Amino acid sequence: MDAAIFGPPGAGKGTQADALCARHGMVHLATGDMLRRAIASGSELGERVKGLVESGRLVDDETVGEVVGARLDEEDAREGALFDGFPRTLGQVSILDGILAERRRRLDFVVELEVPEEVLVERLGGRRSCPEHGPLPPGGEGRCPRCGAESEVRGDDTKEVIRQRLDVYREQTAPVAEVYRERGLLRPVDGTGTPGEVAERIAAAVAAAAGGES
Ligand code: AMP
Repeated sequence: MDAAIFGPPGAGKGTQADALCARHGMVHLATGDMLRRAIASGSELGERVKGLVESGRLVDDETVGEVVGARLDEEDAREGALFDGFPRTLGQVSILDGILAERRRRLDFVVELEVPEEVLVERLGGRRSCPEHGPLPPGGEGRCPRCGAESEVRGDDTKEVIRQRLDVYREQTAPVAEVYRERGLLRPVDGTGTPGEVAERIAAAVAAAAGGES
């Protein structure tokens, strides 16, 4: 099964992704994490995208498409993937359609996490992340529960860059939801409240989708 989790920065996509992946046998394919890993490794790709990622602007569609396509051909991603932070532009919607069609796959559903902007700004400001595993739940011990790495404030979780990322979302990414709504794949879910509450709403929305509602 292939699916996507969609929503603005700070909506909780990464937090919700693990449970969804475990339930449906998908690998978590987060383009932001992949790009940050490339930057950390100092690869040619990392050097190319560093300035854009750090200033909250989008990497070009073609580059992101290549990264996603290559990841989908790795053994563990052949059965299904949960796309997180992708597609982020209308161009990327077409690219994903092509990538999946080439592999005789298609998206089963798109979960959209809805969170008001003032809540996003509050969540993103000062949120701590694991360099490898992304944002950590609030109130943690300052270490990642998965690998024990010390947490840090992500370079693009500063006030100015947060505003930039929200502007980019509004202008370039929000229209993506409309495409999936028209295709009957979008499952809007209230993303406020505790991670547990949101996880329950997602499970209910996906179960309704599997039951044939759209
Ligand atoms: P995220 O962790 O999803 O918030 O992504 C962090 C940053 O990585 C974004 O602000 C962009 O600079 C870049 N990025 C991640 N995913 C994409 C994508 N699908 N298209 C373009 N840029 C992306």
